[in-house]
Parts: sequence; structure tokens; C-alpha cells
Amino acid sequence: MKKELTCVECPMGCRITVLLEDNKVIGVEGNTCARGKMYAENEVFDPKRVVTSTVKLSCGGVLPVKTDRPVSKKDMFSVMKVINGACCKAPVKTGDVIIENVFGANIISAKTVE
Ligand code: SF4
Repeated sequence: MKKELTCVECPMGCRITVLLEDNKVIGVEGNTCARGKMYAENEVFDPKRVVTSTVKLSCGGVLPVKTDRPVSKKDMFSVMKVINGACCKAPVKTGDVIIENVFGANIISAKTVE
């Protein structure tokens, strides 16, 4: 069995073919670097994405946030639930940790708010 993917690890967007047999990866073709091979292997069995959202600010408005690393797609709904229940106080700088260790990722600020 073959699975066709587009690598999203860099702007090159290589088309990758993953060869599967008995639910195991037996080959990866089309990648031009090791990062692409790792992406393809993970994408087949445990796809991950960076989650972006907003957290309420106690002074009003919202703060754009994102996970500091990709999280498993199967955990994304639970991650969003934690983010939706959070509230933070300004001042906040870009990159500040807003919520620690949510399914293995920190939720960080994507904006500076004075
Ligand atoms: S395989 Fe490598 S070069 Fe190609 S898109 Fe993925 S990261 Fe970029």
C-alpha cells in the first residue's frame, strides 16, 4: 500500500510517497532530506500540528497563542478545551508561556501586549 503526502516541514513542499506493508513503513520516497522522512513516518501513524488560538485577557480582548511544538491531532480538541478555559493578564511578551505542559506542549503568546 502507498500513501502520498506533501511535506510541510519547509517551503519546498516535496511530494512524498510512504510505502506500507502490514501496517509498517517499509520505505519513504520523494523526500530530499531526513526531516522529510521523519515527517512522513509520523504523518502516517500519528500526525501532529501546531495549534493556534486565542486566550481571553482579563483586561478585555484576546491574546493570540500557539503551542510551542506540534501536538498529536488526536489531542487537539482537548488542547483547545484547555485554551478556551484560560484567561491571562497583560503585560505579555511574544513567546511567554501562558499555560505549561498541555499534552506535552506549552501554550505561548504569539503577540506582545503592554
Ligand atoms: S523533504 Fe525536506 S526539503 Fe522536502 S519539504 Fe520536507 S523538509 Fe523540505
